[in-house]
Amino acid sequence: MLTIESMDRRVQKSTRAQESGEAKRRAIPSARLVQGAEGSLGDHLFDLQRKAGNAAVTAMLLQRAGPAPAPADAGVTPTVAPGGPATTTAGGTPDAATTPTPVDPDVQTLWDANTAMQASFGNDVHKFQKDTQDQWTATSSKAWFSNDIKNYRQYVPTYVSVGITNLGNWIDANISTAHFLGLKAQTNKDIQASLTTASTAILAAGADHGVTTFEGFNVRMIRGSTTSLILHAVGRAVDINSSTNPQFREDLGHDSAKLASLFRVIQTVTGTDVKSTSDYASQQTASETFKTTFSAAWVATQKTELETRKKAAAAAPTDAGAKQKFQDQQQLVNDVAAVRSTLDGYASTGFLTLKKVVVDQLVAAGFTWGGSWNDAKDYMHFEKGAVGP
Ligand SMILES: [Zn+2]
Repeated sequence: MLTIESMDRRVQKSTRAQESGEAKRRAIPSARLVQGAEGSLGDHLFDLQRKAGNAAVTAMLLQRAGPAPAPADAGVTPTVAPGGPATTTAGGTPDAATTPTPVDPDVQTLWDANTAMQASFGNDVHKFQKDTQDQWTATSSKAWFSNDIKNYRQYVPTYVSVGITNLGNWIDANISTAHFLGLKAQTNKDIQASLTTASTAILAAGADHGVTTFEGFNVRMIRGSTTSLILHAVGRAVDINSSTNPQFREDLGHDSAKLASLFRVIQTVTGTDVKSTSDYASQQTASETFKTTFSAAWVATQKTELETRKKAAAAAPTDAGAKQKFQDQQQLVNDVAAVRSTLDGYASTGFLTLKKVVVDQLVAAGFTWGGSWNDAKDYMHFEKGAVGP
């Protein structure tokens, strides 16, 4: 993801390249599902369950008292009483209408890995399989899941955890097309009036609003501590001009050490500690200053200064001040190296390019702006409401 984001920033000058980058951005959630940390673990568990699950199916077939349908797997031989099914009367024949469909190994794996959701399905994996199958059959929102029930089921536990037990029906009922400054995105219906209010006020202000991209709902895993992500999962957050108004954590792969480096470099370059700054104006000024100041030449100057301070410290081994100046400069050079590609991207585009009127009117309409957060800067992001159904 860091690679994708970094690539995005390098190609932003080209509209065509930007569109390509946007397409990649939109592709991230599904890519995360199958390739991310959750996906890797999931794949591993599926592999384990594929073996364990087949054994369980075999055992279940072997335990049947009466005649069983021919197993799909030719390697599995059910025990059939001598003489065939016609002689098997003691204990009765299983009623086809009540015999549960065997549990798909993938479903069993998902079930076993998500104990918190089990009560919502009567603590019955068969009910979970059937209910989610019925949900899938009924929903008209299959495209969010690449038209694959396996993808759909992967999201069920995380949505159940926020009180949404029928995800397909919930999307059908709550997510629809929102309009904002002539752009469209899918959002929760309950924020659309506020978006319209802000849009109308921005247009009434008459100035060039500069809004070119608008994104909203996205089916995604809800990650515990990253509050900025959660509201998109229920359609109560929008991202505006995302390619030039970054979410710092996302760009840095949610690496806290890199985030600290980024904040320190921006403060050194601009004189503004954006981490502890909430207002638009000083951060927008910092963004502009960063664009005009950070460059390869600036980095070279810092390295030269490091050598100068290193020599001064070596020449005066008992001078604590000289030693501190050397260490501070070493920290700066290390910070730059740690997040250089991200810094180069922000030097190219700035990190806050939204116009003031856009931020002001969305906030006036009741949205919280991610640029006002301290640690989790998310300049593209506006949200309103709570996580839940
Ligand atoms: Zn967002």
